Amino acid sequence: MEILIVVLLVALVVVVGGAVFVVRRSDRDTLEAPPPTPLLPSAAPTPVDTAPPDREAETEEGEGGGTAVATGVRPSFRDRLGKARGALSGYLSVIRSRKVDAETWDELEEALIRADVGVATTQQILTDLRAVAEAESINDPDILVERLKDELKALLATGDRTLRHEEGGPNVWLFVGVNGVGKTTTIGKVARQQMDAGHTVVMAAGDTFRAAAAEQLTGWAERTGAEIVRGNEGGDPSSVIFDAVQRAAARGGDLVLGDTAGRLHTKTNLMEELRKVRRVADRDPGQVTEVLLVLDATTGQNGLTQAQQFTEAVEVTGVVLTKLDGSAKGGIALAIQSTLGIPIKLVGLGETVDDLVPFDPVDFVDALFS
Ligand code: GDP
Repeated sequence: MEILIVVLLVALVVVVGGAVFVVRRSDRDTLEAPPPTPLLPSAAPTPVDTAPPDREAETEEGEGGGTAVATGVRPSFRDRLGKARGALSGYLSVIRSRKVDAETWDELEEALIRADVGVATTQQILTDLRAVAEAESINDPDILVERLKDELKALLATGDRTLRHEEGGPNVWLFVGVNGVGKTTTIGKVARQQMDAGHTVVMAAGDTFRAAAAEQLTGWAERTGAEIVRGNEGGDPSSVIFDAVQRAAARGGDLVLGDTAGRLHTKTNLMEELRKVRRVADRDPGQVTEVLLVLDATTGQNGLTQAQQFTEAVEVTGVVLTKLDGSAKGGIALAIQSTLGIPIKLVGLGETVDDLVPFDPVDFVDALFS
């Protein structure tokens, strides 16, 4: 009898212990491997007409699946340039702690190069600053830093930063740049801003290389209420843009935002393809009024090499500098302006729809040095 009771007790312990173990394990599994959330909305027929969204309730999904709530408030450079400011601040406190001497100039040079201003642009800036410092006999480091800020603002202040709208047929704004720089996200943000300004927007999913690109753009179309024209995967990007222009013309749309590929399926040269897209987009009734080169600020000087290739292929009218919020390489803005001579028109300061702002050189430089 006693043996029976002991056996029963042991069995009970094993059963209860096992159940606790299973529950614990399944808890842990849930924590470690959450069920995948769909990143993108499912494919929608072409074209998609969507109802205007409820702005207050809106959320945004980044490509990485992160969900960020759109606040309806434009971010400031001051708030978002923490990383770039951090990269400069150490140098500035050393410079400010002593009178201007040879070491000051070495520190300044290193600070600018570290911020990815680039060697040539740094030399140009420092040559100009030395001339000012000599003419004004500056030996107060704070005054020197103020003059440096003036130099940087002047360098960035050139060029027309307005986004062009012309009378007549649908304006086409093409977005070019390598994969991952933020073209699709930027189109979503621009669509919202232009629709808020009263324009009727048609998106053209011209990146036919990646199925995910069209899906992602469809998500933005749904969230912004813009119309979208998509083609087949691997199809001809030019015909997608052409169809979008036709659709805009037929429906009274005045702005086509054209996504383009950063890579191609075929061996056709990407730059050749872009030239063709531009030519086709410019056919009556369409008119290409902006070709915006999207550059990722976190890639620093590498972005400049890409930029040169794109500018040789298509006449780029402006740069969109994305991801400045996550970049310590804020100086790339100066390199772009002085090396390429193309105005930076827009800046991405985050992943939500509100995080795209016009480039303001004064705010930008003040934020870097504040
Ligand atoms: P595409 O391949 O050029 O179309 O690039 P995507 O639009 O898909 O963007 C690639 C990733 O960069 C996505 O995760 C975006 O959310 C992210 N991204 C785009 N612009 C910004 C920005 O200004 N700031 C930050 N932090 N992330 C951005």
